[in-house]
Order: sequence, then structure tokens, then C-alpha cells
Amino acid sequence: MEEANEPNFLKTKNLVCGNIELVVDSVKTPCRNKEYGCTETVDRLRNNDHEETCSYQPCACPLTNCNFIDSSEQLSLHFSSKHWDSGRVFRYNIPLSVSLAMDAQFLVLQAEEDGILFILNKGVVETVGNTVMITCIAPSSSKEKFLYDLVSGRGISSLRLKSMTENFPGRVEGFPPMDFLLVPFRFLGPSGELNLEVCIWNSTELGEDCQ
Ligand SMILES: [Zn+2]
Ligand SMILES: [Zn+2]
Repeated sequence: MEEANEPNFLKTKNLVCGNIELVVDSVKTPCRNKEYGCTETVDRLRNNDHEETCSYQPCACPLTNCNFIDSSEQLSLHFSSKHWDSGRVFRYNIPLSVSLAMDAQFLVLQAEEDGILFILNKGVVETVGNTVMITCIAPSSSKEKFLYDLVSGRGISSLRLKSMTENFPGRVEGFPPMDFLLVPFRFLGPSGELNLEVCIWNSTELGEDCQ
């Protein structure tokens, strides 16, 4: 009986292998960001790097008590409709005065023109000052970057810092894995608050002019 069964078993196994090869030859599956609105298909056999650069990669709402995740475009709509009073609306190329309380870790900034969300991230380095940097809520692979200026003044001293936004698909938690700027403690207000003039440029040329 056993000998009689063996050939059948092998036959079935070969048949299954054959089927898999056939299917794999022409496998095209939806992009993994389909649920966030991407309509691209990805050929798994050819090293298709679409998913690495897909603009529908999910981004997380930066507010700590909200679990919303969607494409950066949908997140912009979500933020302006659900959290309109939790961030600050700004216009590109125009300075905006902001104040972050001593215990505040970030402030969400939303561009009036296109709804793009940015985060002004703040950290503390003991005995030195506050780390500051602006990230754009977008897939890390996104190539678009924005120049920005931060100005901090105290008495007759003032500090002007300039950098380029990094793309990050949510809120940066803990110590930033990217470059940051530093505002020494002596520039903080009497209650330890950080007062800044923030200007985000949507044109590289304008940013250069502003030096
Ligand atoms: Zn995609
Ligand atoms: Zn939210």
C-alpha cells in the first residue's frame, strides 16, 4: 500500500510547485499603500522600488491622544477639520511668532496655502538649552524639503538659525535622529518658555535671498 501511495504524493507535490511557478511569473499586486489611496500595482519579481517612494505612505497624526493614520494629504484634511485649534496656521515666507511652554515638546504648524503639516520639535539638553528643528509630516523618502528660519531674541542679543526641514511620517519622539538647532537657555523667557519667530519658505530662491 505504501509503495502505491508514494508516486501519487510526489505527483501532487510537483503539480503544486508547477502552479506556483506559473503564478509567480506574472505576479502583480496592489501597492501596500492601497488602503491609503494608491492605485499603483507592483511587480514583485522585478525589483520595483515604487513602494519605497510611494507618496501614499501612511503618516500618523502628531497629537498624542489621536490614533489617526493615513496619507499625508488625508492627514492634512484630518488635522484642519478635527484639530483646528491644536496647531498654528502660517503662510509661507512670512514670519510667525510662536511660544512653546517649558513642558511643551512640539507645536504643529499647518500651511494655509496647501495644508502641509510641519512640526516644530523641541527637546532639552541639560544645562545647555533647547534643541529645535522643524520636520515636515511626509514619507521619509519624499524629496521635497523646505528652508526655514528661526529667530530668538533676548534683550539686545538675538539668534538667527537656518536649516532645511526633514521629512518624517509622524511625531519625532525622544532625541531626534536627525540634525537639530540649539537655542541656549539664556534666550528662554522668564517661565522657561521658548519664544521664536518661525519662517518656512516654499521657494528655495526666496530662502537664499533672506540670508
Ligand atoms: Zn503606492
Ligand atoms: Zn488626529
